Amino acid sequence: MPKKTIIPKKTPMPEQPPEERIHNYNEVPYGYTEEQAIAEAKRCLECAKPTCMQGCPVNINIPGFLKLVAEGDFRGAINLIKETNALPAITGRVCPQETQCEGVCALAKKYESVAIGRLERFVADWEAAQGPLPVPELPPPTGKKVAVVGSGPAGLTVAADLARMGHHVTIFEALHEAGGVLVYGIPEFRLPKAIVRREVEYVCSLGVKLVKDFVVGSAATLDELLEEFDAIFLGSGAGLPWFLGIPGENLGGIYSANEYLTRSNLMKAYRFPEYDTPIARGQRVITIGGGNVAMDAARTALRLGAKESIIVYRRSRAEMPARLEEIHHAEEEGVRFELLTTPVAFHGANGRVTEVECIRNELGEPDASGRRRPVPIKDSNFRIPADIVVIAVGQSPSPLIPKTTPDLKTGKDGVVIVDPNTMKTSKRGVFAGGDVATGGATVILAMGHAKIAAKAIDEYLRTGVW
Ligand SMILES: Cc1cc2nc3c(=O)[nH]c(=O)nc-3n(C[C@H](O)[C@H](O)[C@H](O)COP(=O)(O)OP(=O)(O)OC[C@H]3O[C@@H](n4cnc5c(N)ncnc54)[C@H](O)[C@@H]3O)c2cc1C
Ligand code: SF4
Repeated sequence: MPKKTIIPKKTPMPEQPPEERIHNYNEVPYGYTEEQAIAEAKRCLECAKPTCMQGCPVNINIPGFLKLVAEGDFRGAINLIKETNALPAITGRVCPQETQCEGVCALAKKYESVAIGRLERFVADWEAAQGPLPVPELPPPTGKKVAVVGSGPAGLTVAADLARMGHHVTIFEALHEAGGVLVYGIPEFRLPKAIVRREVEYVCSLGVKLVKDFVVGSAATLDELLEEFDAIFLGSGAGLPWFLGIPGENLGGIYSANEYLTRSNLMKAYRFPEYDTPIARGQRVITIGGGNVAMDAARTALRLGAKESIIVYRRSRAEMPARLEEIHHAEEEGVRFELLTTPVAFHGANGRVTEVECIRNELGEPDASGRRRPVPIKDSNFRIPADIVVIAVGQSPSPLIPKTTPDLKTGKDGVVIVDPNTMKTSKRGVFAGGDVATGGATVILAMGHAKIAAKAIDEYLRTGVW
């Protein structure tokens, strides 16, 4: 094969200018045109040993789909992706590609990697533009019934896979809208809700029943569900926000990111006055944390009218767990970063927060996460004025289901313990995956768990062997 000419840089993705987009909730990048997608796919070197695939948690045939895009065969490309990834319009937008496929792409050693995520998004959007998805031919019903708890990416994936195997699936969702963090956490400007709704509709078109406003552990326990269902998949996520445990944290105006983003996204506070959901609109909003959740909260604050949106993060930019694109977009939009800074107390007046007291850090030795540890600098305290504080420092699974299911074993921070090869829990007939089994992680890992669980559930239903 003749040697390929290397094109060092990614084909740029057109996007809304920052000064315009902070006044709306429309998606920031517009997506590639067909010509741009073909040009970008042609950058792939078609490596004999495609390292990109090793970086993909669900092992998408990346060079295969890139070749099809380069040839203009978008139908072939989407079909190939969907062999292993059911939600490419979502993962193409939210996966941390720089630490997965793109991070280990051969081109990335010297140049910019192939824009694998943008191309995944392109073919998924291309498919959506062709009209509703045809429902595949389903096998005859097996007569087995599975309950899925939660309709996030884990629950939706497991439900679709099991329905395609002929099992009868019912999803029980606590909220009034399905999609999990994809609808109540990740904002519209990063992941349009219409895309998630389309995926939910597709799962329902496979015959999956969706029961909303149903809190498992309260409306029915797992044991009660097991009287009606042959197996359960627990995909209830990690919705319990962590706080800092520092003085003043109970002052008014201090939110968990979970509450702040849910009010904005799911209760549509951003569409005021059409919706009158109460949400505090501070002039100065301080968000604490350095992950995707923090970026989403800080960027939402700007769109809700904050004059200043500041991120306080205890390590440096290099250690931030957020996707690079989100950090870049936040910076472009004017979010200010107070790095190497830890809050130590909140101060207030009349019951409301007015200042965040912080201390500066320097970086020490790496900790268990492999990232360099923040070490406080003595007497470096200073204060930042604040009307609203949003805390985005992590989350763990809600204790509700384990509390009402004594034989369901949990580990550190309340995660449900599973066998990683089958996603079986300690309780017969109950499988679990996604954030409930890991703590806050990623969409693609949740989907990867769901794929493993679907196979294991099918085997359990067919053989009865636990
Ligand atoms: C703001 C934010 C931004 C993020 N950004 C990214 C990103 O850019 N990229 C990325 O890969 N990941 C991101 N994540 C993480 C990612 O969204 C999660 O890892 C993923 O959604 C986990 O999927 P899941 O299906 O396990 O759980 P979830 O998406 O949390 O879904 C769980 C569902 O279960 C329901 N539920 C909970 N308890 C019960 C109950 N007792 N009964 C019935 N239903 C119940 C919940 O209402 C929810 O709908 C982000 C997370 C947040 C919060
Ligand atoms: S590693 Fe990069 S260049 Fe090689 S096949 Fe994968 S995407 Fe193409």
